[in-house]
Amino acid sequence: MSSSTTPTASPDCLFCRIVAGEVPAEVVATSERAVAFRDIAPQAPVHVLVVPRDHHPDVAELAAVDPALLADVVALAHEVAQAECDGAFRTIFNTGASAGQSVFHVHAHVLGGAALGWTPA
Ligand code: 5GP
Ligand code: ZN
Repeated sequence: MSSSTTPTASPDCLFCRIVAGEVPAEVVATSERAVAFRDIAPQAPVHVLVVPRDHHPDVAELAAVDPALLADVVALAHEVAQAECDGAFRTIFNTGASAGQSVFHVHAHVLGGAALGWTPA
């Protein structure tokens, strides 16, 4: 698959390029409209990113324009957690640079596999 054939892809977007197979990633699950792959710098025993195949900058924009796609992303996150950490997981959508977002293609961080702390700041 090439990003050039996907009208919603953004050519300079890292996660569009992972979805297109142009940048390697360890894909752990896929659905019709979403892809799950391991974070390159895991912060927990299970740390998977779930992205929609279509490019959307952040979760607020996705919820506004395609809430069904946001539900698909969450459903795939749940599927990964069921496979890897007994269905118990934390989902984080960093939204905005000051909240820690560094890749502006919406992604759910799926964290699990340990007793998670609660110290984001
Ligand atoms: P953010 O900071 O935008 O919420 O999360 C971006 C995440 O993408 C980070 O956790 C970072 O480790 C991960 N990441 C950055 N570049 C790559 C990459 O090339 N491959 C993978 N698999 N993850 C990446
Ligand atoms: Zn993108």
